[in-house]
Amino acid sequence: MYKGLAGLTAGHFIPRTRYRHRIQGRAHLPPAVISSSHSNTMTTQQQEGEKRYDPGDTTLKFVNRQDDLDPLDDDTETLKAEMSCGHAVTPESLTGWCRSLLDQSQFKFLCPALEDGTFVKCGAEWSYQEVRRLAVLTTEEMEHFEKTMAALAAATYCEYKSCPVCETFVEREDLTNLSVLCTVCTADKGQRYEFCWQCLKQWKGPGPRSDRCDNDGCINQDLELLKNCETTSLPQVAGVTNCPSIRACPTCGQRVEHDKTGCKNILCPRCNKEFCFVCLKLTEDCLETSSYFTACSAGVAPRQTSIPTWKRN
Ligand SMILES: [Zn+2]
Ligand SMILES: [Zn+2]
Ligand SMILES: [Zn+2]
Ligand SMILES: [Zn+2]
Ligand SMILES: [Zn+2]
Repeated sequence: MYKGLAGLTAGHFIPRTRYRHRIQGRAHLPPAVISSSHSNTMTTQQQEGEKRYDPGDTTLKFVNRQDDLDPLDDDTETLKAEMSCGHAVTPESLTGWCRSLLDQSQFKFLCPALEDGTFVKCGAEWSYQEVRRLAVLTTEEMEHFEKTMAALAAATYCEYKSCPVCETFVEREDLTNLSVLCTVCTADKGQRYEFCWQCLKQWKGPGPRSDRCDNDGCINQDLELLKNCETTSLPQVAGVTNCPSIRACPTCGQRVEHDKTGCKNILCPRCNKEFCFVCLKLTEDCLETSSYFTACSAGVAPRQTSIPTWKRN
């Protein structure tokens, strides 16, 4: 079960809105790019709107060095604080970065700072509690963050679907079993009611099963896409042609497409693991024998014929 979001609990809950959106993978993010809001030319009004740390706050560790989220930072006046990973931020730079992550459907807050003198991202995950405190989020910002995070978690993980009969949202805890029990309908009818996570009809045939139920037309659309999608090339990666245009994340099975820009790697929006779209190895493994913009030593991995199941915990 997914844990860690305020307001998201197991079992049933009815969201205010229904969301169903396409999840797209994204190419490797560039190192911390944040619009700088503290140039010397800004107006008094902007200055007033800018969030700052209270120098008297003894729960924060203040440092007097460059903002690690802003490579162009030359502002020595704004107080910086250290995140749990050791990188220095300001309320504005941290808010800006985390907002940009949410805008890209990422709701895990990963530190984008580069390790000293390298192009290696820190990648530490900050908790929302930490972000909220060190970004000095306003009430409106908190509302925006929490709403977006909850919506993204539910939609991205697809772990909540509405029961075809009573329409309450049900969480699927066993990701290898398509047969899902609706406790509301079971209580209503006085007999066990299970529906199929894939075709969203009453479960038919023996269970548990991970591929389909016995209803006509119960097929895995993602698997069909993996089998039948067109091939593509990655223009910026030397020597890559005829790569299937849709892949399943090797870690969690999330369907992703490459936007054809940038390097060959994809940061999975669901599990946040970065993998090579071409050879399907995790980025760190692929990079042992190749580079971001060259073909992999293992070549183009063939079309996937099954979807990996996420083994969390
Ligand atoms: Zn860091
Ligand atoms: Zn139901
Ligand atoms: Zn089915
Ligand atoms: Zn994934
Ligand atoms: Zn590769």
